[in-house]
Amino acid sequence: MPEVSLRDQLKKFVELQKFDGEIYHLKRKLKENPLAVNALEQEFEKEKSKLHALEAQLKAIFLDRKQKELELKSKEDEIVKVNGQLSQIKTNKEYAAKIAEIESIKADKSIFEEKILVLFDEGDTVNVEIEKEKKTVVEHERKFLSKRKEIEEDSQVCEGQLAALHIQRKQMLTGMEVNFLRQYERTLEHKDGLAIVALQGLTCGGCNMNVTQQKINLIKMHDEIVTCDMCTRILYLEEDL
Ligand SMILES: [Zn+2]
Repeated sequence: MPEVSLRDQLKKFVELQKFDGEIYHLKRKLKENPLAVNALEQEFEKEKSKLHALEAQLKAIFLDRKQKELELKSKEDEIVKVNGQLSQIKTNKEYAAKIAEIESIKADKSIFEEKILVLFDEGDTVNVEIEKEKKTVVEHERKFLSKRKEIEEDSQVCEGQLAALHIQRKQMLTGMEVNFLRQYERTLEHKDGLAIVALQGLTCGGCNMNVTQQKINLIKMHDEIVTCDMCTRILYLEEDL
């Protein structure tokens, strides 16, 4: 009799839905896991680039200091040179002018000395930050690698479960009505892995919208597949099966 047949089909689909719900959940996890790994990797890269920026800053300070040291050296050489000229000077006026020139070079020299000291201090500060950041990066890497391993292992477990479920699912399809199966699978694909739902009182167990009494009567008659007007999921009565 068709009534019995449809009811039996519904029972099978309710059973199949349990598998498909789990399959959907596993597939989603397998899709989301690599994204989670990517996000973690990006976060780790961000931490590493902080370190690289600090290292670049330190290098710039070092180069700047080297430049200032060269300039300091040239001022020192200049002082020696001008000092050497003092002995050849004949007049007091010239002598006073040379002394003034030496004082001026000495003033320039001390400016460079101060700048060099400041750069030493800046370098020390950045160095401390670098050491701190290196520890952070190491800690971050440790966490990232362990989390990635955890996620990848989870994906492997999911793959295994999925393969087993697929085998079981295939066995369940025997004797199922092809058109009904097609409709079920189409809904499954478009409705988040949930194609057949029990009525919850007077509402659809999938989208929670009200189902008309007329539709509920149709479900009870087991003459045809009844679907929710709102979400198109196949409806059944729990106490009916
Ligand atoms: Zn619905």
